[in-house]
Amino acid sequence: MIPTFTLLIVDDEKHNRALLTELLQGENRIILAKDGKQALERAREHHPDLILLDVLMPEMDGYAVIRALKNDDLTRNIPVIFITSLDSAGDEERGLELGAVDYISKPFNPAIVRVRIRNHLESVHQRRLLEQMAMLDSLTGIPNRRRFNEVFEQEWRRCMRDCVPLSLIVVDVDHFKIFNDTYGHTAGDEVLRRIAKTLSTSLRRPGDFVARYGGEEFVILLPGIDSEGARNLSEHTRADVEAEHIPHAMSEVAPWITISLGGATRIPRENAPGPELFCLADTYLYEAKHSGRNRVAWAPPA
Ligand code: GH3
Ligand code: MG
Ligand code: MG
Repeated sequence: MIPTFTLLIVDDEKHNRALLTELLQGENRIILAKDGKQALERAREHHPDLILLDVLMPEMDGYAVIRALKNDDLTRNIPVIFITSLDSAGDEERGLELGAVDYISKPFNPAIVRVRIRNHLESVHQRRLLEQMAMLDSLTGIPNRRRFNEVFEQEWRRCMRDCVPLSLIVVDVDHFKIFNDTYGHTAGDEVLRRIAKTLSTSLRRPGDFVARYGGEEFVILLPGIDSEGARNLSEHTRADVEAEHIPHAMSEVAPWITISLGGATRIPRENAPGPELFCLADTYLYEAKHSGRNRVAWAPPA
């Protein structure tokens, strides 16, 4: 299903804004701007899926607007269509050179405009689906390592700004190689899916984040709680996985699947996360492994 899109219509003439709104509002959310300055403000604020941009406007013309849009990280990737009464090949070339995805001359044929815009929105939709897929782990359907790296940076900055702790937990399935050897790789894949699901349902406060880091390792981010709280949540999660009682007859730890977790909590002080917090959590994962597995080991508070 194609979702509702947000369109920003920029035109200094009220009549044109009304015409385009009338034409496109049925299936889309419409935002209007009557000059270049307003267009830039609304583009930043609403982050529309598509911008319809008039060229001839007083003060700031459409060419200046698109240049400003392309110079701003927040608006750079929003597709722009020029709708204009300038209709020489040179004008059209200039618009496309500046990064517009299409160029529609006024007076326009409403039916054609509507279809062309629908086609552009369809590609926006496709691109977005691809972007989302690139962030998900194909086996388990939860976020992948690439997405984790992004979220880690975002949460790090947010916790630094709010002066609150961020916890990072590294999770590893116990004796998973023997599991695969015993039950087969397909059964192993199913276990990874189930663990992904259990971790995700176990940790559901706003901001809690679970990803598959790779292989049989998962990572968890818990923002906004202290070391003790994060450790307790991790212990609950460990118990939730154990309570599934997924048979693992050859495990030395328990007759079912278990996980080991290493965690660390810090209030971010630098602008971007360095490798320290991750290394710390990983060190404690090894501690959990070496002290018997099926347990949580936690770095002492700083
Ligand atoms: P430990 O308790 O020390 O973690 O032992 P382990 O056997 O879990 O650790 P090891 O690193 O020796 O083995 C990890 C195993 O995880 C080996 C590999 O085949 C399995 N594995 C990694 N990715 C996948 C996957 O996508 N599917 C399946 N079925 N198995 C996987
Ligand atoms: Mg491992
Ligand atoms: Mg393992």
